[in-house]
Formats: sequence, structure tokens, C-alpha cells
Amino acid sequence: MGETGSQLVPWASTNLSHRDCNEPMMARSIVGVTLLYVPSTPASSLHVVEHRNWRTNNRNHKGPWGPTHGVMIHHSVSSGDDSSVELCYNGHSALPGPLCHGVGRNDGVVALVSAGRANHAGSGDGDVLRAVINEAALPSANEADTDGNRHFYGLEIVSLGDNKDTYTKGQYQAAVLWAAALCRAHGWSERSVIGHKEWQPGKIDPRGPIEGGGSFSMNQFRADVRAQLAAKPGTAPAPAPTNPPKQENPAMPVSTDDVRKFWTTDGILKAPSTAAPGNTHWTPDSYIRDIHARLRAVQGTLDATNATIRTMAEALAARDDAVDVDALIQVIETRLEGVRVRLEMES
Ligand SMILES: [Zn+2]
Repeated sequence: MGETGSQLVPWASTNLSHRDCNEPMMARSIVGVTLLYVPSTPASSLHVVEHRNWRTNNRNHKGPWGPTHGVMIHHSVSSGDDSSVELCYNGHSALPGPLCHGVGRNDGVVALVSAGRANHAGSGDGDVLRAVINEAALPSANEADTDGNRHFYGLEIVSLGDNKDTYTKGQYQAAVLWAAALCRAHGWSERSVIGHKEWQPGKIDPRGPIEGGGSFSMNQFRADVRAQLAAKPGTAPAPAPTNPPKQENPAMPVSTDDVRKFWTTDGILKAPSTAAPGNTHWTPDSYIRDIHARLRAVQGTLDATNATIRTMAEALAARDDAVDVDALIQVIETRLEGVRVRLEMES
């Protein structure tokens, strides 16, 4: 089923600062759950970049956005990754942007350019929309009576679409992962994925050869999305890439919470032999507190010992004028100092 009732909140409160996104994790982020970095294998990760102010780049002032019902695949009729991303972000005089939500670059990266209504689907066939909502077999598109920009996410894959320009394997795989991420987020099957040519009469996209053989087929694309949706997170999707996107390894900042957990986690460090019976493990925090308490006790004992020595020396001097208290204490302190120095050298 396509989503029919309440509108999910696409893209809201996303945090895509980590550029290699495990596809299922990205799916969650799109519907408003803050992305958590999950180490992922190259084969299952979708490499995304956030292009400029993509979250607020939209055409919501020109018409409604949502409820979303499906995912639409295009070729961009352009070449050059960076210039195509700019074109899709801004549009041009005859077709104001944004022109889609994601741009599938030749290098296998998807650039995010919009989070709202975008100019990609135009008017299409209401029968097709109903089939997408019901996830039923698609009728051929022979009408242009329904606003597609309201209901579809759009991916422009950078290609001239001249049947000669070849989609790279990484580019194709990223498109599959992008579509699967959205389907997973909405609970849709691969039947919610269509090509522009299946929506609007007269359209031919997507088309063209794919690196390694074959040409773009929406039926094959849906099968690949289906395989990805069936795969457990972290497993390779059907079209394995020859040049997987390079894995970045962003250094994770350690939060105060992480530090607190380190000190207070129980069940890992064995308790010292002096611990109460039955108390087999101590947290690092308990160890530190125990050491601190014992040092305080040792310090107290030492102070009391020194005071006792002085009292004894004074008592001795009171009975015998020949005893020099200060000299006696000096001798004792020198000997204690000698012990301290020896202990430090041996440790
Ligand atoms: Zn198109």
C-alpha cells in the first residue's frame, strides 16, 4: 500500500552530517529520526552529500507537497556532476528549481537538493497514481490530469539520456539504495517506484546503457529495489558495485554521557579481593572512590602516627633532660624519608 493517510514528515529534523549512510538508517532519518552513525559495509551504504540549503529549498509556495505516495526516477539530460547538481538545485529560466530531491552523480554519490515540493514529475496519469497507491500493476500513462510534484519524490540521475551516455555501476546502485531508503521509510514495496516515462505521456526517462551491461529497465530497477528491501541491513544489494564509494571514517565526538557510562558501567571489572562477599564486579567509579577513601585513611593514620611519635618524644624528654626532642624527631623523620625515597626508586 502506498501511504494514504497522515503525511510523514520527510526530511524534517534530519542530521546527515555523516556522509556514508547505511540505507535503512537513512530511511529512518528521512522520516524525522535523527540519523545515528552506524558502521556499514561499502556495499550497503548510500553516500549522500547535503547540497547547500537543501532542507528549505522547495516550491511549497507554488502548490501542495504531500501526502507522498511514491518515488520517481529520471535522467537529468545533462552531464557533469557538479554542474548538474547546481542545475537541479536552482533550475533554469524555463523550469524553476528545485528540479528533484536527489541528484544521482556519476561518482555514486547522491546530492540532496530539496526537501519539499520540486519540479520533476509534472502532470501525469491519475490512474498510474492510484496503481502506485495500491501497489498494483501499472497501467500505461495516457493522461496528464494529476499533479505529480505533490506526490512523488524525484531522483535525477546525471545522464544525457541519449542512449549512449552510460550510467556508472555506482550511480545505478546509489539510485537503488536511495529508492529503497524512501520505500523503507514509508513502508512501501518496490511497486511504489516508477520511472518518469511511466507517469507522463511523451517522457522517455530513464533510459540508457548501464556500465557492465544491460540498459535501464524500470522492471529490473524495481526488482533490484525489492532485493534491497528484502536484504537485512548491512548486506549487499543485488547490483554489487565494482567501485564502491570510499568509506569515510568520521571521528565520533565523545559525549559527556559516553564518559559517564564508561565510569559507571558494571559487570566488566572484577571486584578487588577486599570487596564484600557476593559483590563480584565493580564499576570503575567504585574503584576510584575506594582508592580515594583508602588514601584518606592512610593519610589520617600517618598524621596520627607522627603525632604519637612527637608525644612519646616529649614524654621521654620530660623524664630525661639529656633527650633533645627536636633532634630525636629529626632522626625519625630522616629515616622515614629514606624509606619513602627507597620505595619510589623501587616502583
Ligand atoms: Zn524526468
